[in-house]
Amino acid sequence: MSNSEMILELLGEIYPGSYCDDCMSVELGIHPRQQVNQICRKLESQGKLIRQEGSCEKCQKEKKINILNKESQAIKIRINAELKKNSRASAYSIGRIEDVTGQIDRLRAAIVKICQQIWAANKSEKPPRSISKIINILREDGLIPSLQAGLMLTICNLRNAGLYEDVKMSAKETTIATNAWDIISEWWEKKLKSDKSRA
Ligand SMILES: [Zn+2]
Repeated sequence: MSNSEMILELLGEIYPGSYCDDCMSVELGIHPRQQVNQICRKLESQGKLIRQEGSCEKCQKEKKINILNKESQAIKIRINAELKKNSRASAYSIGRIEDVTGQIDRLRAAIVKICQQIWAANKSEKPPRSISKIINILREDGLIPSLQAGLMLTICNLRNAGLYEDVKMSAKETTIATNAWDIISEWWEKKLKSDKSRA
């Protein structure tokens, strides 16, 4: 995942909150900080985020902050409406959603849930807001196998491309996402079972 995708993903996660360049650099591990500044100015010129004076959600300082542009947020609102319509289906069973982007977004939401559960069971500090960051840390700590972590990031990438890059998702992307999800959920269910039998 590119640095600009990570930045958009983080801003989407904390929306309508906002981060300053410094906090984003620390949280996402993008160094030097000037690189965050450059990327954010580029994303601003593309209309994907807004830079303005305000209070940063993380450090609470009054300075130049970044917030996701509501225009690109419109896509997210559409997806959320789609998700609500289908909310009766369990997060782990993929319902029949016409909107492909919505379907990939549901898989990503299930991945977020899994990662939060693993984090809560193994770590005392608060998780970062960026899901990619969480996946990378859990992989480095050996809590998610490399294969499954890579597939999780693939689904997150597909979702971000559909959401922030306006890439049209087709049956090919859905096939990648659902097959990746099959491998992830197989591992996860096995892990839940073995955790239970050990308890
Ligand atoms: Zn800050």
